[in-house]
Amino acid sequence: SLSIGIVGLPNVGKSTLFNALTKNDALAANYPFATIEPNIGVVGVPDPRLDTLAEIFGSARTVPATVTFVDIAGIVRGASEGEGLGNKFLANIRETDAICQVIRVFEDPDVTHVEGGIDAARDIETINTELILADLQTLEKALPRLAKEAKTNAKDKDKQEVLAAAEAARKVLDGGRTLFAGAADAGIDVALLRELNLLTVKPFLYVFNVDLEEFSDEALRAKLSELVAPAEAIFLDAKIEAELTELDDAEAAELLESMGQTESGLAQLARVGFATLGLQTYLTAGPKEARAWTIRKGATAPEAAGVIHTDFQRGFIKAEVVSFDDLVEAGSMQAARAAGKVRMEGKDYVMADGDVVEFRFNV
Ligand code: GDP
Repeated sequence: SLSIGIVGLPNVGKSTLFNALTKNDALAANYPFATIEPNIGVVGVPDPRLDTLAEIFGSARTVPATVTFVDIAGIVRGASEGEGLGNKFLANIRETDAICQVIRVFEDPDVTHVEGGIDAARDIETINTELILADLQTLEKALPRLAKEAKTNAKDKDKQEVLAAAEAARKVLDGGRTLFAGAADAGIDVALLRELNLLTVKPFLYVFNVDLEEFSDEALRAKLSELVAPAEAIFLDAKIEAELTELDDAEAAELLESMGQTESGLAQLARVGFATLGLQTYLTAGPKEARAWTIRKGATAPEAAGVIHTDFQRGFIKAEVVSFDDLVEAGSMQAARAAGKVRMEGKDYVMADGDVVEFRFNV
């Protein structure tokens, strides 16, 4: 499954955040945090639609989609030169599908800042520079080979395109931009770069670890959001997120309300992280469970069926589909059918987020 690597300089609150993520019962709901390895956490993606479905269908339980976070230690200035844990860091991050940078904004004289003082823009640049340098190394190694392949296969359009994309990518990186931020502007089709497994092509998202005063500072939020756009920015206080996981639901809701929030930072992180991975959900419901299933954006109905069981994909006949909103408005599946809101979709149907589905298949 797809995963998000959590990276950040030392002492920015990564461990605090990761531990809170993996301890969050509310998030984990019916998906108890699975300890695969100490640095991998699987957390549920909060989805209030599941509770609504459970009411309509009398489901005994709800099962959310999940998102996998990997705590990746070891980024420091010079990581791309193999300093410290640099090489291991780069290898670990290469295996993830998105990069979540934790950036320290909170001030605390008792917690040393490795770069001397609080400066979000500088820290983002420090991390991006290491990733950019690592990608440049990869490209420098690959370009002679790609050039040779393009030359010896002069009529192979693919080889020419890959070479051109790699050269354009080098220019973007030389200019100090990540490919996530700069590839589209440079007209690069990143699919052509896939075989190179570059780091900065991966989608980025940012967690700004703020303290409570900064949390409600709208001007600061706007400034930091702009700094990382088009990546998503999440603002949270890692220490408070850790506290929230220790509280019961009522106490947690009260603390969140005092901060003007209806949702924890961790819940936001799970939701935004899921979307950053290019994933979406469709829903199924019955007396046993109301459940969110994970698919790629753009997945067809048979592919969606295959997530439940490969037999469902092989024997796919059709999908009975109603949008979540139409179902809720009708009040029941029967009423939705009577109102003509339930569609029969074939094998070419592209799933929409929030489709409530029943598959028909041969076994
Ligand atoms: P890591 O090195 O990035 O994993 O950082 P840690 O999670 O170990 O945090 C380093 C120190 O900063 C610890 O003493 C944390 O308690 C503290 N810390 C983490 N988040 C916050 C925060 O939001 N506010 C404050 N004041 N301290 C924090």
